[in-house]
Amino acid sequence: TPDEIEALRATHISEYPDFPLPGVLFRDIIPLLRDAAAFRTVIRYWTSLLPDDIEYVVGTEARGFVVGAPLAYELGAGFVPVRKAGKLPGDPASLSYDLEYGSAVVQIPEGSLPAGARTLIVDDLLATGGTAAATLELTRRFDVEVVGVSFLLELEGLHGRERLPDVPLTRVWSLP
Ligand code: AMP
Repeated sequence: TPDEIEALRATHISEYPDFPLPGVLFRDIIPLLRDAAAFRTVIRYWTSLLPDDIEYVVGTEARGFVVGAPLAYELGAGFVPVRKAGKLPGDPASLSYDLEYGSAVVQIPEGSLPAGARTLIVDDLLATGGTAAATLELTRRFDVEVVGVSFLLELEGLHGRERLPDVPLTRVWSLP
């Protein structure tokens, strides 16, 4: 039930103040991942929030792999990784995006998403939305149909969803 899912957030997400930088309250999903029953319950609940005709789940390195792969498996979809620069062979699609300090490059394997494919973008956590917005832009270069972006946890106070205005957004948990 939704109450049980909400209770799992309190018990299975830990908080670390000032990590990795002063002023950041880091949310750690490892307690959820290492509890077999809780992990299965949350993945199945998450799946129930999503359309059932998804063909590809695109997940962002690294925790987007850990939650995205079981979601793809449950949905009967394929999984496509979005990787940091320098990890993918061949001629991957690349996008550079701005961070608070400097910039980062994300990549998707060449030929990994056929045009028109119904595609869902997944990550563990939505903070400022920079990562998800870059992933969305890069994914759309494949001319797929992005049916949604979805997160385990949304940090509402950072207004990340305002950077994703034109795509349906779902999340299991939200925090102010
Ligand atoms: P953003 O691009 O600001 O939305 O940040 C999202 C990415 O950074 C996700 O891949 C998260 O795993 C990670 N992240 C950002 N803020 C936090 C936080 N407070 N706790 C844990 N992970 C975070």
